[in-house]
Amino acid sequence: MMNIVLFGPPGAGKGTQAERIMNQFNLTHLSTGDIFRENIKKETSLGIAAKSFIDKGELVPDEVTIKMLESEVKSHPESDGFIFDGFPRTVQQASALDAFLNSIDTSITKMIALDVPEKELIKRLLARGKYSGRADDLDANIIANRIHVYLEKTAVLADYYNKQKKHFSVNGLGSIDDITNRVFKELEK
Ligand code: AMP
Repeated sequence: MMNIVLFGPPGAGKGTQAERIMNQFNLTHLSTGDIFRENIKKETSLGIAAKSFIDKGELVPDEVTIKMLESEVKSHPESDGFIFDGFPRTVQQASALDAFLNSIDTSITKMIALDVPEKELIKRLLARGKYSGRADDLDANIIANRIHVYLEKTAVLADYYNKQKKHFSVNGLGSIDDITNRVFKELEK
């Protein structure tokens, strides 16, 4: 099994690259943000619980997010592996993911971090807001909070995966194709 964590701040291009990695390596793409948004649309209890956090650019509590992620993984027993996009976002999520994967006899293969400077992130998110239909991409204050939350709670995961020798950085600037080529090169090593 090949299990990849696609890591990076909001607007780094994780969703775009995850789709391409999924097709190339035959993996199941799990985006926690997409799953939350689907649940909000369907007005499920999970969606209702998550909405107030997402609207402010805050993280959905770990307990809720971890439970959801584990049930998504379990619902794909046929999968050759997973690409985790937007998860983990806290140390607690990362260690829960390690423990869970261990319990089903697998583990994270690599964490690929997309490196993009903050100024470029804000530009990309505001541009995406015009067509994504995402309220959290339209408001400069919410975007700033998402980046702040990333720096405060998520960026430390680089160290977490570094200690496991699984952290690989990729330059996230340039054309989408160029970035995909860099990511594939890292994954094929
Ligand atoms: P994303 O689509 O990855 O940008 O996520 C959109 C929003 O969903 C985030 O700002 C969080 O509010 C929530 N979210 C997504 N993934 C997670 C996660 N792993 N932990 C907590 N909240 C999350």
